[in-house]
Amino acid sequence: MPEKITVGILREKEKSENRVSLVPKDVNLLIKMGLSVELEDGAGERAGFLNQDYENVGAQISKKLTDKINIITSVNAFSSQKNSYVKNSLIITTTNIRNDNKIIEICKKNNLSVIAMEFVPRIARAQKLDALSSQASIAGYKAGLIVANSLNKYIPLMMTAAGTMLPANVLVLGAGVAGLQAIATVKRLGADVTGYDIRLAAGEEIKSLGAKFISDDFEQDSETDGGYAKEQSKKNQKSQLEFLKEYIIKADAVISTAAIPGRPAPKLIEKKTVQLMKPGSVIVDVSAPLGGNCEYTKLGEIIIINNVKIFGPSNLPSEMAYDASTVYSKNIFSLMELLIKDKKLKINLQDEIIDAMLIIEKGKKRIKE
Ligand code: NAD
Repeated sequence: MPEKITVGILREKEKSENRVSLVPKDVNLLIKMGLSVELEDGAGERAGFLNQDYENVGAQISKKLTDKINIITSVNAFSSQKNSYVKNSLIITTTNIRNDNKIIEICKKNNLSVIAMEFVPRIARAQKLDALSSQASIAGYKAGLIVANSLNKYIPLMMTAAGTMLPANVLVLGAGVAGLQAIATVKRLGADVTGYDIRLAAGEEIKSLGAKFISDDFEQDSETDGGYAKEQSKKNQKSQLEFLKEYIIKADAVISTAAIPGRPAPKLIEKKTVQLMKPGSVIVDVSAPLGGNCEYTKLGEIIIINNVKIFGPSNLPSEMAYDASTVYSKNIFSLMELLIKDKKLKINLQDEIIDAMLIIEKGKKRIKE
């Protein structure tokens, strides 16, 4: 009998990472597909899944992943130097490949292949394994809650015997997955919401959520064939900053989520604009891990400038680790369905999804810069 394919669930070593890459429900499905699953001791704990929950569905618990492993799953396998890797295995994880040269060295040394979840093509067939969307949606929701929690005023219109409070005015910059979820969240709380994006398609989506859409005059559409935003020319960037300034100054809260794949986040909120904001207003810079949309943002910190609070959250999905893990796990399971045929691992490069996501093959980098 050939050995069963064994999947190892890595315990995330980064202190700020609470998520786990596979939850017991999906481990159960993998075992039913004929695979074995090993869990690094306590890997699910911080997300709310105990060793016992994994054992109950048939997983083995090990202090450290063993040499039997063929496929390692992780949220971010290369974020910590404390990780060890099983030689010749395939790692399914998110990565920071464009900014971290060590990854390729580790993979060469250990003959590793890597499927990177952030390289998912944004096509209909890949939606089930789209971890960018599943995690961005959580980040947008959390950003809305940070606004609600940190403003010094009500979000909805509030009519009381002691007076009427007007709804908070929330501006959302960038209306991709995170931005739209942020709009939906603050809208449900009763805010007066305005959305901004440089892709015209995003305008329709902003309006469909009941928010106002603002756009500058210079625009032709800024959408690439892949559905992403184009980086703006210096001239456009300048007029964009001028255009946005008056809306930012009027807002009680700004949630900024603007991003361009593979590039630093565009700067949309200048220091001099922050200086003009109302005291007590709030900026939640969801793009902080990509460099931030606000010139003041500091990753992982909350800073206060002229009584304006600026949040630079480093890992919002990790703050909602149970659900973030549950949806990430579903993304990984859906990928496994493409990789496992007749209980064997088959990396089919004819499949455009696998071709796009396999960024390292047996230690060799496959992505084009
Ligand atoms: P993203 O995180 O790359 O960017 C966030 C938003 O920032 C985008 O809406 C982008 O247009 C906007 N942006 C970039 N530069 C900007 C600037 N200078 N000013 C204002 N806004 C700016 O985006 P995302 O959430 O990953 O979504 C990217 C695209 O993929 C969207 O079109 C989305 O609808 C699409 N998508 C498709 C699928 C699918 O079909 N499977 C799934 C998810 C998302």
